[in-house]
Amino acid sequence: QHVTVPAGAEDIASPKRTNDLLKRHGFKLKKSLGQNFLIDTNVLNKIVGAAELDKTKGALEIGPGIGALTQQLAKAAGRVTAVEIDQRLLPLLKETLAPYPHASVIHGDVLQVSLNDLFKEHFSECSGVSVVANLPYYVTTPIIMKLLEEKLPLENIVVMIQKEVAERMAAGPGGKEYGSLSIAVQYYCEPEIVAIVPHTVFIPQPNVDSAVIKLKVRQQPPVDVEDEDFFFDVIQASFTQRRKTIYNNLSAKYFTKENKGELEGLLREAGIEPSRRGETLSMQEYAELSKRLKAYLKKPGQ
Ligand code: SAM
Repeated sequence: QHVTVPAGAEDIASPKRTNDLLKRHGFKLKKSLGQNFLIDTNVLNKIVGAAELDKTKGALEIGPGIGALTQQLAKAAGRVTAVEIDQRLLPLLKETLAPYPHASVIHGDVLQVSLNDLFKEHFSECSGVSVVANLPYYVTTPIIMKLLEEKLPLENIVVMIQKEVAERMAAGPGGKEYGSLSIAVQYYCEPEIVAIVPHTVFIPQPNVDSAVIKLKVRQQPPVDVEDEDFFFDVIQASFTQRRKTIYNNLSAKYFTKENKGELEGLLREAGIEPSRRGETLSMQEYAELSKRLKAYLKKPGQ
């Protein structure tokens, strides 16, 4: 359904057009929903470019705001669906997206929406789908984990997030950024930081640094894992107290006073020195360790 497009509705991403639209609708930004809108076309183009879209492809956007990114996605992709939690934005989106009938908005919380159903309904005709978003920073990790754990048929996830979180996602073993988030993300994807972005490209400006990260979704995980839940539990446990050794963290979680001596042998068999810290182990080492630990714990009497 088309509405009359007011002058300037095309490309809302400029400080003046954004402020005018917000003012005309009497819209008050909600900090608690992470509402920092993009006003810079170069940054928008960089995000959209990284997703490698074409007219055969679909894009799922999380949190379209007033539609600055949605408009650019609609120019590049054959189908765009955006999930927005704030009902007050729907009339503004109707205006900015009026020229793009292949872009639709769903009102809802992305953490509650069934993405499998959404994919069937919106993207079944697409040759590939990417998630592209300037994410609300307060829920970055739950959103990314939901996208990955539901094993949606995605090609890429290209998102603007807090710089520090992007660095944790892309970190390798050995540094302080490396942790369970790095391993979870890298198990499903190949991460690449595309750009570091200054505060000035947002209205209002956030008080943290931002980065655009591209997560290329893998066809197959890079390591062989039988029980993914247990693999991720072991990783979580290994980072419970970062300054403690892998031996101490794992014995506290899986062993008793009586049998904790066994853990030392198990670690050595996996090729891991018990005095190492969790942050030094590679994903491959965690895969090996969780396989041996599971086999041990399954034995009767353990
Ligand atoms: N895409 C717009 C842009 O780049 O200008 C807006 C991005 S703004 C950082 C984040 C948006 O996510 C806001 O519009 C906010 O209302 C929305 N949002 C916050 N939590 C959400 C959730 N759980 N589900 C869906 N949208 C959400």
